[in-house]
Amino acid sequence: MSFDKLGLSEKVLAAVEASGYNEPTPIQAQAIPHVMQHRDVLGIAQTGTGKTASFTLPMLSILEKGRARARMPRSLILEPTRELAAQVEENFIKYGQNNKLSVALLIGGVSFDDQLKKLDRGVDVLIATPGRLLDHFERGKLLMTGVDILVIDEADRMLDMGFIPDIERICKLLPFTRQTLFFSATMPPEIEGLAAKFLHNPVEITVAKSATTSDTITQRAVSCGNKDFEKRQALRDLLNGISDLQNAIIFCNRKRDVATLWRSLEQHGFSCGALHGDMDQRSRTTMLNNFRDGNIDLLVASDVAARGLDIPNVSHVFNFDVSVTAEDYVHRIGRTGRAGREGATFMLVTPADKKGYDAIESLIGQTIEWHDNPVGFSSRTGKNAKARQDQAGSSKVGAKSKRSKSDREETKNRKQSIAPASKNTDKDSDPGIISGKTSGNKQKSRTKRPNMVAFADEDHVPAFLLREPR
Ligand code: ADP
Ligand code: MG
Repeated sequence: MSFDKLGLSEKVLAAVEASGYNEPTPIQAQAIPHVMQHRDVLGIAQTGTGKTASFTLPMLSILEKGRARARMPRSLILEPTRELAAQVEENFIKYGQNNKLSVALLIGGVSFDDQLKKLDRGVDVLIATPGRLLDHFERGKLLMTGVDILVIDEADRMLDMGFIPDIERICKLLPFTRQTLFFSATMPPEIEGLAAKFLHNPVEITVAKSATTSDTITQRAVSCGNKDFEKRQALRDLLNGISDLQNAIIFCNRKRDVATLWRSLEQHGFSCGALHGDMDQRSRTTMLNNFRDGNIDLLVASDVAARGLDIPNVSHVFNFDVSVTAEDYVHRIGRTGRAGREGATFMLVTPADKKGYDAIESLIGQTIEWHDNPVGFSSRTGKNAKARQDQAGSSKVGAKSKRSKSDREETKNRKQSIAPASKNTDKDSDPGIISGKTSGNKQKSRTKRPNMVAFADEDHVPAFLLREPR
């Protein structure tokens, strides 16, 4: 199969050739012809299999005809995180190099002014996180009645309980006759039912059963103790012992554990950065770029980095914690082994993690081999047992292992939360660092919790919680 059989425009085909792609991936081959025929599409394919080009390429071809009017975007792509939105913008620029289309990125954490200027000039492709998009709409700067194509990337995430009110609202502002495209690597059945509400007679393309992990990723579980210092030791042993480790993303469930682990690894001499939703946007971008450019080897991250990020040469992913949802595991490990490359992943599993571990194996439909000996799961694996074990593990570091209100909210809504950027630009102000055992004196002396708000949508604070302009 070659790209020129898919109905794409000449300009787009030339850009694809310049990208060095020899043939479309299965999701591209199956989805693009339907998108070109203006059908609604629900596309499920594994992480790293080119879902982005499955919508960007036909959209560019379709939008070649016609012109954008001021403040009336012609198409809209919704993404769950700012970093992912920015990455999709880069894709549009790459594949749209021969088209004269205007692309705008509306994400939180950065100034409104440049975004407004772009909207005023007219936008063919608008890429946004829902909160900032609605902010612009509420300010009267945006009309969405001209949107002919809507893409919801990471669709199951965008339809979960944290985002769904915004998505419903946005969809009501769009023309009923629009074309709608949904893509994801996971699609729990209950969310799939919800998705049907937004799609009209969709073509359903399932390249691989939802939540199937890529064959190119070697997955291992690693037995370790409950206590935080034991987990950090187990991680360091892995980092020091893996011969082909080039670089890695290390996922934690709690934002403050991200900060603590980052400090700890730095103190042990690792080249390391951190990324989580309570950091200001400038730090987030710098950290990600440093990792992408190879200036740091390890990136400790919350689930804000779990979805969609395409950093081609990530050799390893570590789960410092068993993920809260099994879907998160699929997305986390999908940051390695992209576009047919080899990747490896290790997950630390403690005696208290039976429930989460079983849920992951059951979702992905395979057994995860143990790196060494299997962990002895404790008989009491319910919520209370876990809490007791957490407490036992955290006795020396205060309430460190207790999940903060913002972490709980993050899980409940499957959202990242963030503090207003100007109040929280200092990474030391992260409360997680304060309680961390490995924190230096500087952090320990800071006991005052910064004025932070946690909110469901990364970019959308309910008005009553808004303490300062975003
Ligand atoms: P997904 O959204 O499915 O996780 P992405 O769209 O981020 O995957 O693509 C993953 C990687 O695959 C990107 O680095 C992209 O450049 C590359 N890629 C996409 N399409 C092709 C193709 N047809 N041939 C080779 N590489 C491709
Ligand atoms: Mg993607």
